[in-house]
Order: sequence, then C-alpha cells, then structure tokens
Amino acid sequence: MTDRDPDCLFCKIVAGEIPSDRVYEDDDVIAFRDINPRAPTHVLVIPRRHVLDVQHLTDADGELLSRLFSAVRTLAAEAALESGYRVVTNVGPDAGQTVFHLHLHLLGGRSMSWPPG
Ligand code: 5GP
Ligand code: ZN
Repeated sequence: MTDRDPDCLFCKIVAGEIPSDRVYEDDDVIAFRDINPRAPTHVLVIPRRHVLDVQHLTDADGELLSRLFSAVRTLAAEAALESGYRVVTNVGPDAGQTVFHLHLHLLGGRSMSWPPG
C-alpha cells in the first residue's frame, strides 16, 4: 500500500486539493469538520497515510493509533466536551462505511443513545 491513493477523497483533503474545515494537524494526523455533522461537534480524525480501515492496520501502527487518539483528546478538550463524547470508526458495508480511508468520528455536544443503529 502506498501512502496515497489518487482516487481517495480523504487523500485529496490531506493534500489540500479538496477544501475542508481543518481543525488539527501534525506530521501524521489531520482532523476536519464532517460535511454532514450528526452532532454539534462532529470531526473526522484521519492519518495522512492512506489506510483503508481498521482491518488494514498492522501491529506496526501502534504509534499512529496513539497519535490519532492524542488528536481526539486535544480536540475534545478544545471543544469542552467534559460531559462526554463518542469515537466511532465504521468498517465495511454492514457498518455503513462510505469513505475508504481510515477515520475516527469524534461526536459530542449532545447526549447519545446506545446501541447505535
Ligand atoms: P463513514 O460513512 O465512512 O463512516 O464516514 C464518512 C464521513 O465523511 C461521513 O460522515 C461524511 O459526511 C463525511 N464526508 C464525506 N465527504 C466529505 C467531504 O468532502 N468533506 C468532509 N468534510 N466530510 C465528508
Ligand atoms: Zn486515502
């Protein structure tokens, strides 16, 4: 797997070829607001590197996962989500994945039901 898939929407957002409302970035991770927000805070946290989904991570990706969740903590603190938030990552068609570049949905700012639909 190369670092970039030329046909991938989120790779184009990483490269700045498609505009996004970017709220975080470091050497390995960027985060931007979801175009169709499902909560007052709805941010997508993604690796710069093209990874399809959780199923395509390997044991060598521990540092990347740590950085993704570090970004989640930073963003949750900035958004003052003290009363809680949800982190979701959809894998495959049964889960409703629509963009095949790994992303964590950070959702907060309202109470949520369980289980998800
Ligand atoms: P999935 O359904 O794969 O878990 O999540 C993909 C998410 O990407 C959806 O919540 C969708 O609203 C969001 N999305 C799709 N296209 C774009 C886009 O061009 N820009 C942004 N900011 N979000 C997008
Ligand atoms: Zn990609």
